[in-house]
Amino acid sequence: MRGAVLHAPGDVRVEEREDPRILVPTDAVIRLSATCVCGSDLWPYRGIEKITGPSPIGHEYVGIVEEVGSEVSNVRPGQFVVGSFFASDNTCEICRAGYQSSCTHREGMGALGAQAQYLRVPLADGTLVATPDVPSDDLVPGILAASDVLGTGWFGAVAAEAGPGKTVAVVGDGAVGLLGVLAAKQLGADRIIAMSRHEPRQKLALEYGATDIVTERGDEGVARIKDLTNGLGAHSVIEAVGTQESMMQAIRSTRPGGHVGYVGVAHDVELPGEELFFSHVHLHGGPAPVRRFLPELIDLIWNRQIDPGKVFDLSLPLEQAAEGYKAMDERRAIKALLHV
Ligand SMILES: [Zn+2]
Repeated sequence: MRGAVLHAPGDVRVEEREDPRILVPTDAVIRLSATCVCGSDLWPYRGIEKITGPSPIGHEYVGIVEEVGSEVSNVRPGQFVVGSFFASDNTCEICRAGYQSSCTHREGMGALGAQAQYLRVPLADGTLVATPDVPSDDLVPGILAASDVLGTGWFGAVAAEAGPGKTVAVVGDGAVGLLGVLAAKQLGADRIIAMSRHEPRQKLALEYGATDIVTERGDEGVARIKDLTNGLGAHSVIEAVGTQESMMQAIRSTRPGGHVGYVGVAHDVELPGEELFFSHVHLHGGPAPVRRFLPELIDLIWNRQIDPGKVFDLSLPLEQAAEGYKAMDERRAIKALLHV
C-alpha cells in the first residue's frame, strides 16, 4: 500500500509500505476514505519533537472496515468507522471513567501511520465507532474531524466547563481552537472570545459562534480579555496551542475560580507554582479522551447540526501529503485533508 513516512524534519514522502494485517484477534484493518495532517504532526515535521529515523505518520482516520479479528464483535466488514488517536479497550476502569486516552491498554495510532491506504486498528471493539450508514461524501470531512480536532476541541471546552452563563476565551486559532469555539457554542456558552489575528480564521470562528475577536496575544491579550470581562477574566479558557506563552496567556485570562481546559500538546511548558497557587484557577487537560465524545459527535454531524469539516481548507490526494504538511507549516492552510 501507499503511506506517508516522515524521514527527517521537513521531509515527508508517500511511499510503499507493508500492508497492515490482523496481528491479534482484537484488531481490525480498515481501508481509509480520508485522513489528514494534524497540528501535532508539525512538531516532529519541524524537528521540535525528535524523530529517530523514518517513521510512518498520521493518527486521524475514517474508512471502511476491511477485516476484523476473531474476537471483534462491535464492528464488521463493510461498516464506515471512525476512531481516535489512541486505541482503547473502552472497558477498563479508566475508560469507564471517560479517560480512554489513558486506557490501561492504550496504543498510540500515530506509530501505525494513519496517513495511508490501510490501517490496523488495535482494540477495535473499544476504539472504533460505526456511523449509521456509509456517509455521503459531504459528511466525510466532518466525521474525519471528529477523529481528533473536534473531539479535542470538545474536550477542551468540557474541561474548561464551558456552558450557559459562561464567558469562554479560546487561545489558539488552529483547527482545535476553532472547534473549541464550536464546542463552547454547542455547550451553551453565553459569550465566546476567539483569540486570533488571522482574518480567514477569525471568520470561521465567528461562523462557529464566537461573539468577540481578540487579536492581541501574551500580556496584551490577557489585558483585552480582562477589559471584556469587567476586569475579572473569563470563566472558561480553552488552551489549544501548547507553548509557554499560550499556556500562561490561558491561565492569566481566567478569573479566580475559573477553569482552563488545556489541549494543545505541551512543549517545554513550565508552570510557576506560586502564581498558580494564588490564581485559584482550575487546570484540566491532556490528550483528549475523544472516544468518550464520539457517539454524540457523530450524531450531531450525521444530523447536520454541526459542520466541523469546514476546518479543512485544503484537500489533496494522499500522494501529495508533503504539500499538505508544507501548507500547514507555512500557515497557508488551517488543516489539510488527504483523500485516499
Ligand atoms: Zn481502557
